[in-house]
Parts: sequence; C-alpha cells; structure tokens
Amino acid sequence: MADFPDDSACADWLFQQRWPDGFVCPSCKHEKGWRLKTKAWTCECCECGKQTSVTAGTILHGTHLPLRIWFIAAHLAATHSNGISALQLQAKAGIGSYKAAWLLLHKLRKAMVNPDRALLAGMIQVDESTITFRTKNDPVAGGQGRSHEGKIMIAGAVECIKGGQSGRIRLTQISDYTGETLKGFVEQMTAGQSTIITDGLSSYQGMEGRKHIPKVVGSMAAHVLLPSIHRVFANLKTLGLGVYHGFREKHVQAYLDEFTFRWNRRRSYRSAFTTLLGIGLRIEPMDYWTLIGRPSPNRTLPAAG
Ligand SMILES: [Zn+2]
Repeated sequence: MADFPDDSACADWLFQQRWPDGFVCPSCKHEKGWRLKTKAWTCECCECGKQTSVTAGTILHGTHLPLRIWFIAAHLAATHSNGISALQLQAKAGIGSYKAAWLLLHKLRKAMVNPDRALLAGMIQVDESTITFRTKNDPVAGGQGRSHEGKIMIAGAVECIKGGQSGRIRLTQISDYTGETLKGFVEQMTAGQSTIITDGLSSYQGMEGRKHIPKVVGSMAAHVLLPSIHRVFANLKTLGLGVYHGFREKHVQAYLDEFTFRWNRRRSYRSAFTTLLGIGLRIEPMDYWTLIGRPSPNRTLPAAG
C-alpha cells in the first residue's frame, strides 16, 4: 500500500485505470476536460460542461469513505489467502462502523465476478458436494450436536494442468443433482471440446459437445478419483469454518464467488488487487438495500437534488 499514501494518490490511480489515454467525457465523448480544483477527483468536460467524478458509475460511486480505505480493503480482500470477515476488515482498515465495513466488503465481493470471464477449458474435473450453513440464531462457535445446521448443494469444476496442478475453478450453488442442473453447470462453465472428468454419476451422461471420462473404480472414494476438485472443496470448507464461522445461507453464492476469485489469482496478489478495483470500474454501482435484497426506505421519498 506504499504506492497509495493518501486519497489523492488513489484518485490518480483510478483516473489512470479509467482513462488511460486521457479523459473522455462519458456524456458527449469529447476528449478534453479540466480537473476541478474545487471538487475532489472530478473532471469537467470542455464541450458540454458535464462534471464526472473518477468514482461515478463504479462500485465506489457515492462512497462516504475515504478512497484510501477502499484501497486498503481491496488490498486485504485480494491478498488474505483465507478471506477476511467484515469484523477483521473494520479493525484492520480503521473503519468506524461494522455496517460500513460489511457493506464495503460486499461491494468488493460483487466486483469479484468478472462479467467477461472466460470459460474453463481443457481437462476439467467436475463434482458435487455439500457445505453446511448456519441460520441466524445458531451459536457462532457451536460445539457438538448442532441441530440447526443446514446443507447447501454446490457444483464445482477445476482445470487440470499437466503435472497435477490445478488451474482455474468455478463454483455454483445448485438446487439438486439432476442431469438438467449438472449438465447445465458444465455447459455454462466450460468451453466446447473440453474433456470432463466425473465420478460417473448418471446425471452427467450425455453432455453435449464435450468428451466425458467417468472415473468409476469400484467403491474407491471420490477424493481419490478426483483429487483436484476435492482439494478445492476441502479448502472451501476450511474457509467457511475458519473465517466465517459457518456460511450464511443467503450469501453463499457471494462466498463462492469470493473463494473462486482468490483461488484463480492465488499466484499473483498484485493482479488480484488491480483486477478487483479494475473490474469494479465496469460493473453497476450497488447500494446497501440492493445487497440485502430489501426495498430502500428512502425510495418512497422524493429524490434529493
Ligand atoms: Zn461532454
């Protein structure tokens, strides 16, 4: 974070990411603008006079937090190998309230799915698993005999690279193990001509446009037959128990996306950081109410000027 000593350095970096060849007005596409001295990190178009903040239309849109807090948070979220909780983020980034830290973390998670991401390709192990979740009233650090735990079904895919290495992954929450669901997962996540290795579950029979290798060897355990995807599942479960003290059902897909983002960039933290803020520059801004899936109480009021 030495590159970003203050908000001004952060704004310069965002400006550079957004307009690498110089300012372009988002409204009229004119290529000349002035950086305003009176308004922080804002350009005014020389042609139409529209003012554009460097954060406008990004996940940082309308933020009340200093830019540097965003950068610290993105850095932590991208580099913490086991993920980070809102409570940890609040402490480490010096954020005033838990709610602000939680919101910030969830906005960053939204930026973890690149809308333009490429399909997995080559040799791919695919399998299903279940993860446990806790309901709101469960004890955070429950011991033996928890009765309120639920199970969530997930499907996972991982590229197998030569030498037993694992490549990129995809993880999705699913509602059942039917052929429609599992073949749909494979079709959505993998490129045509890929080779799909499974444990031979009948739901995978008849995948279109892909070669299928069902590894059925008597009663041999799945983690022996499909070691790569089972390493992914094991890591995911460790994350759920360790950092989050159990996943919360409502946010499972967000956790899966975060895990996937980190896994796919585990060998280059620097690129994880820039991708995280860079992707954020292209996705829709999102407010607290959208994130928690409830109507905003402010929407019934007339819009402020
Ligand atoms: Zn303009």
